[in-house]
Amino acid sequence: PLIGKTAIVTGSNSGIGLGIARSFAAAGLDVILNSYTDDDADHALAAEIAAETGAAVRYIQADLSDGDQARGLVEKAGACDILVNNAGIQHVASIDEFPTAKWDAIIAINLNSAFHTTAAALPMMRKAGWGRIINIASAHGLTASPYKSAYVAAKHGIVGMTKVVALETAEEPITANAICPGYVMTPLVEAQIPDTMEKYGVDRETAIRDVMLTRQPSKAFATTEQLGGTALFLCSDHAAQITGTTISVDGGWTAL
Ligand code: NAD
Repeated sequence: PLIGKTAIVTGSNSGIGLGIARSFAAAGLDVILNSYTDDDADHALAAEIAAETGAAVRYIQADLSDGDQARGLVEKAGACDILVNNAGIQHVASIDEFPTAKWDAIIAINLNSAFHTTAAALPMMRKAGWGRIINIASAHGLTASPYKSAYVAAKHGIVGMTKVVALETAEEPITANAICPGYVMTPLVEAQIPDTMEKYGVDRETAIRDVMLTRQPSKAFATTEQLGGTALFLCSDHAAQITGTTISVDGGWTAL
């Protein structure tokens, strides 16, 4: 049932978005990759996934800190049966020292962009008579940590918006849900391991187990493949009555 459907995955030239895009292409979906850059490498990545999977994969540049560009991404795609709002950034500072520009950028990219893409995509989904909206929130959409005020505010915000979109589409064959990952192994996280080892003077295993994954009871990172599988499940017919909720992929973090 997914063959021939088009999925837009925002912020998908690396990390979780890329993992979801790869899973979608492997399942036969047409996929739109996106980020704010417009490098040869971005377009080559789309061509590589297309060659690997036989799916139609395109890269569309859009800086999602800008609402018009977020709406433009959906319009340029021309179709949107599945929308994955994944693009996100982080900044860590106490609230009294939090730079206003960082606060504004995090709210714009992690929250406002999903408002704009959803607003642009819903009419297309209604016309097609089917749709899936999947917002990549975080364990920080359900709980908090110090020094992450903008990120936690944006992630709680997107969980709230997900519920409203679900209610506004409740009687239609459209669902809206949020996936809440704990720590996921991405290139960014991998790059933090050597620094953490050095800072705490510990080996790789200790750095991961006792420093990075203190709040993740499983003591294991989730993988981008697992996030891709969760997103695909939400697209399946089995998930047609799952709407307005969150699915945690966090090794037990939010059970603590
Ligand atoms: P990442 O940095 O690898 O990916 C972020 C993506 O967003 C990249 O493709 C980046 O180019 C894109 N992006 C950033 N600013 C953009 C902009 N202005 N316009 C368009 N695209 C932009 O990080 P990731 O870990 O894969 O994170 C993806 C999502 O998952 C984020 O929303 C993040 O908050 C969330 N998340 C990540 C983790 C984790 O442990 N990695 C945990 C919970 C939630």
